[in-house]
Parts: sequence; structure tokens; C-alpha cells
Amino acid sequence: MSNSFDKFDGSGFKDDSELNGGLDINDANDEILSSYLNESRTSGSPYLGAKQTTIRSSIRLDGVGVHSGAPVSIVLHPSEINSGIRFSVTHSNKDIEIKAHCQFIDSLTLCTVLSSECGVCVATVEHLMAALRGLSIDNVLVEINNGEVPIMDGSASPFVRAIEDAGIRELDAPRRFIKVLKPVRVEENGCWGELLPYNGFRLEVEIDFETPVIGRQKFTSDINPGIFREELARARTFGFMADVEQLWAAGRALGASLDNTVAIDDGKILNSEGLRYSDEFVRHKALDAVGDLALSGYPLLCSYKSYRGGHALNAKVLQRLLADKDAWSYVDAPSMPSKANVRYPTDLSVDQHSQDVGLMAVAHFAADKN
Ligand SMILES: [Zn+2]
Repeated sequence: MSNSFDKFDGSGFKDDSELNGGLDINDANDEILSSYLNESRTSGSPYLGAKQTTIRSSIRLDGVGVHSGAPVSIVLHPSEINSGIRFSVTHSNKDIEIKAHCQFIDSLTLCTVLSSECGVCVATVEHLMAALRGLSIDNVLVEINNGEVPIMDGSASPFVRAIEDAGIRELDAPRRFIKVLKPVRVEENGCWGELLPYNGFRLEVEIDFETPVIGRQKFTSDINPGIFREELARARTFGFMADVEQLWAAGRALGASLDNTVAIDDGKILNSEGLRYSDEFVRHKALDAVGDLALSGYPLLCSYKSYRGGHALNAKVLQRLLADKDAWSYVDAPSMPSKANVRYPTDLSVDQHSQDVGLMAVAHFAADKN
């Protein structure tokens, strides 16, 4: 697979142990996290708490690989604290684990491919990563049978629905964040992306295509699980027929179809059902950014702005951030005793007990602040 992307050498990490939850924690950010978590709660967010999460039960999804066109299956398993999102691929009768981290990006040509040191790959991770980060799931083991996450309908929605069906379980450990401390920017060929300090997680994503079907579109919003689910999760990937035909001729993107791609040809959308959002294109780019930035390994406290961006640019900005030790720090949400009794405005199938504990924590957090 061609690779125009510079593989990240991991330089700049503060300590190797960071991948498993390590050192150099900045404790002086209670106020920032307090307002962020409390704001997410009061805005009707389904789930974002001070504690780490996993899924309540295993989830199997079957579909087709957008590259291979072959049937592929994944099984998401609940996972322990500080284990993060990991892929498990069976290779030569051995289970190889690949951490969902930008350190392991192998290629970004058509989709995001992660690879282990021994060269075992897992492709098309971005929409699943977006769903997991979008719903604020910290720890999951993703078993994968055929090297590729199924494309499903080209959006994150099938993953979101499956996770909601299984439910979310809160774990007894504080959620860790990466806090952006200073602006980090990458600019290339008229495209740019920039991470900025922000007390929460915010996206400002703008695209500009010549075809009037897309044109110039901008999506700006703070992102929490409720907003992710309602405003971004259903936005599908898109492509131009001329490009797709070239890829097909080269034996690639064999699974791409109108069932999983918004296809544009000659200034028209070919999908008979039309668009899911009037600006579905930029929303999909925002969804991709959520998934790409999830390869930091932890939720980010930042604002991310991009203009005509994509997977490669998003990854470069993230890698530039992580390579600059002065540009970020870890922040742990403080662990808090349960005190208050607050109703959680949600229909998400979060474990009720865990949900109450998480909310109480957030409420206590806020009470401390005020
Ligand atoms: Zn995408």
C-alpha cells in the first residue's frame, strides 16, 4: 500500500508507560474538568463522566470490508481500566494486539490502517474509533477476523447503535484526558489543521469542494456524546465516481457501494435516498476528525480547527502535538465520593448504578467548584 504519510517514531512521548497510563499527571485542572463534565451533563449529553468506561457486554458486528469486498466480522469486548482501545488480530495462530494509537499508523491513503511491529494490519478503524470516542468509551478490545473493520453503512451509526444496545459500564478509575496547552498547527497545500487549548472538546471543520453539490461547508460545535450521536454519527463517507472507478480498476475499494458511500457523479448525488443531513459531507469530515483524534489514546481537551482536512492532516497535527512535550499534559478527573443525587437526562442504556455514581461524581465535582 502506498504511503505518503511519515510514520510516527514515537519521539516526544513523556514516558513509554504513557500508553498504559503513566506519569506526569497535571493535577491542577479540576476546575476545567469540572466545568466540562458538568456542562456535558446539563446539556443533555447521554454520557460523559469523571470515570473510565467500557461496554457492558460483547458486541458482534458483521459486514463487508471496504477494501477487500469480503465479509468481515468484529467482536467488541469489555476491557479493564487503563487498557484503552486495542485491536486483536489472529495471525499464524497467534493473537496480535495493536493499540489504537497514532504511533501505530501505517497508512492513511484510503482509510486509517494501524499495524503491529510484526506487520499485522487492521484497516478502516476510523468510524469505529469515532463511535467509541464519540460515546466516551475508554476501554474496549476489538477482535477482528479479516484485517479490516466492516464499513457498515459508511457512517458511525451502526457502531453507536450496537454500543447503546450493549450499554456502557463505568469503571472504578478516573478518566484521563490529554489537555492541549498551546496551539499546534500543520499547513500543507492550502489545507490546515490546528489544535488549540480549550476547556472541553470542540470542532470547527470546514471543507471547500469545487462541485456545487458540496461547495463550502462548515461544522462548528462543542462535541459531547449527545451531540455526536445526533449531529455526526449518521453522516456517511462520500466519494466521486471517477475516483471510485479508478480504485476499482486497481483492485481497491472493492467493497465500496451506494450502500456505504454517498457517490457523486457529474454534479449529482447517485444515492436514491439522498442525504441524511443537508451538509452531510462536512459532518462526515467532523466524524472522521473525532475518530482520527481518538488515536491520541485519550480524550482530548482542545478545540480542533481544520480547513480542507482529512485523515492524513488530522494525524499529522496529532503527531506534532504529541511530539512536543510542552504542548500537552495528562489530566485525570479527580475521583470523588458519591454525595449528591442528580437525575441523568438520558435514554442511553448506561448501567443505572454506574450512571448514578458517575453523575454524583460530576455533581460533587461541580459542588466543589461553586
Ligand atoms: Zn470517514
